[in-house]
Amino acid sequence: MTKHALVCGAGGFIGSHLVKRLKRDGFWVRGVDLKFPEFSETEADDFVIGDLRDRNLCSAVIDRRFDEVYQLAADMGGAGYIFTGEHDADVMHNSAAINLNVLDSCRRRASKKIFYSSSACIYPAYNQTDPANPNCSEDSAYPAAPDSEYGWEKLFSERLYLAYRRNHGMHTHVARYHNIFGPEGTWTGGREKAPAAICRKIAMARSDDEIEVWGGGDQTRSFLYIGECIEGTVRLMRSNCPCPLNIGSQEMVSINHLVDVVADIAGKRIAKKHVPGPLGVRGRNSDNRLIKEKLNWKPKQPLYVGLENTYRWIEQQVNRNSLQSRSGG
Ligand code: NAD
Repeated sequence: MTKHALVCGAGGFIGSHLVKRLKRDGFWVRGVDLKFPEFSETEADDFVIGDLRDRNLCSAVIDRRFDEVYQLAADMGGAGYIFTGEHDADVMHNSAAINLNVLDSCRRRASKKIFYSSSACIYPAYNQTDPANPNCSEDSAYPAAPDSEYGWEKLFSERLYLAYRRNHGMHTHVARYHNIFGPEGTWTGGREKAPAAICRKIAMARSDDEIEVWGGGDQTRSFLYIGECIEGTVRLMRSNCPCPLNIGSQEMVSINHLVDVVADIAGKRIAKKHVPGPLGVRGRNSDNRLIKEKLNWKPKQPLYVGLENTYRWIEQQVNRNSLQSRSGG
């Protein structure tokens, strides 16, 4: 019997890659999103353009007992979108409404297995002040003090999924993603994340040019390649693990180092101009002890490998765009 999966947010970066993986695994897949994927055709068998804040739409797309439901839809963006404060009300209202609707429609259809994409942004700001020693172990989430309203909504929704597990016997699984990057991710327009923004700036630069870096560049992060994110996602979904797990890389780098690595991949000499900008916490890294213990698996691909693939893809997009603008297309 063919298994059925629903991917909410299937027009987004992670969702569109997840659809491809579920098709390879033999599922019949329905995707739902406000938009189609931007950079490639969806591979979903059925793709509904619709707004998951609408309860009726939710009931209509969750019209059966799906074997697996992945809830990735959210109002989100890079630091320039989340940390300025200008979008707080939208971010909280829109994402919470989606989660309330999707979970309850699943309960009514007895679709029990649901995956929820939370974020490293739920971790307390007070544990991420030292760029060399951030603490993001799963049990450090409380006392809660996320540094953004995006993080607070994620924390509320995590608790919502865990409550449905306790009260309604649903098999909800929660991942805390840490900075996912890769080909077919947003690379321009203001919602892109640091790796994509740096790849774009370097692809557009000539050797010996200078690129702008927000802040001193000594803030640290880790970045997980999309392939490993998808692998961790399906492994967690098909496990018995009831608790939230980090899905992230443990290879922590400073933003300055990230620029140097991308410049090396591009074969260009690049200088950095430090400018004011939204920074987020000083340091953040995935702690992978619990995922290794629960799933006997953890991400291991070196950052360099994922960045090479991503840089080549973004370079192609930049070249295509400049050809189009030169030909007036
Ligand atoms: P994305 O923005 O590319 O995808 C989210 C999708 O949700 C978008 O296509 C958007 O159109 C859709 N969406 C938003 N509002 C909707 C609505 N009302 N109805 C239907 N669809 C709607 O983001 P992504 O990077 O693919 O992230 C997927 C999930 O993972 C999100 O929940 C995000 O918060 C979480 N996450 C991502 C990262 C990361 O580094 N990419 C890190 C932590 C958590």
